[in-house]
Amino acid sequence: MIRLSDIDCVLLDMDGTLLDKYFDDFFWEHLVPERYAERHNVSFGRAKAALMDLYRAHENTLNWTDIDFWSAELDLDIPALKEQIRHLIDIHPDVEEYLAMLRNHGKKIYLVTNAHYKVLDLKMRKIPIGHYFDRCITSGEIGCPKEWMEFWTRLEKEIHFDKNRTLLIDDTIAILRTARQYGIRHLLHKVCANSRIAASKPEEFPVLCHFRDLIG
Ligand SMILES: [Mg+2]
Repeated sequence: MIRLSDIDCVLLDMDGTLLDKYFDDFFWEHLVPERYAERHNVSFGRAKAALMDLYRAHENTLNWTDIDFWSAELDLDIPALKEQIRHLIDIHPDVEEYLAMLRNHGKKIYLVTNAHYKVLDLKMRKIPIGHYFDRCITSGEIGCPKEWMEFWTRLEKEIHFDKNRTLLIDDTIAILRTARQYGIRHLLHKVCANSRIAASKPEEFPVLCHFRDLIG
């Protein structure tokens, strides 16, 4: 495991890493197709197939993270729908203890997310952990998603971290790959992102299943 003394700065992803991805999966794979089917008068199955194609077409772009884009594209009030199921927003076990421990050790802590600022706001109101972070940064603010190399160049200019003494924890492999290519030295792949889906066993990066494993 990674030694705390080797790290000054921790970059943490939100959805799937600190928070349970069940909310997002349920939202995009169930609630949105259901409402889309009603709105466009098609079956749930057809709605879901059409939406999966659309999601794929906008993967790895800022559109994907932009809920205003999806509201217009799907003719649905996406922020209102998210509010409707806000009770499903939940934090992974021991995350708060881990954040408190990092604080106690004087580490810089940044929340670095592809989520839209409105979604970040909704989630931080439900799970009030915002005060642990030196700053919360969205890819919308940076101007490109975390899957792009340019994101990391701009982020480094913005918050001045030392790549060799920085840890990134993320549940998305494409993001970890870009960060590795950029030169971030310490990387952890968060698995069990959705608490209701059994974790696979990826091998490309060191794996983190439970935050308690990082609390010494
Ligand atoms: Mg994530």
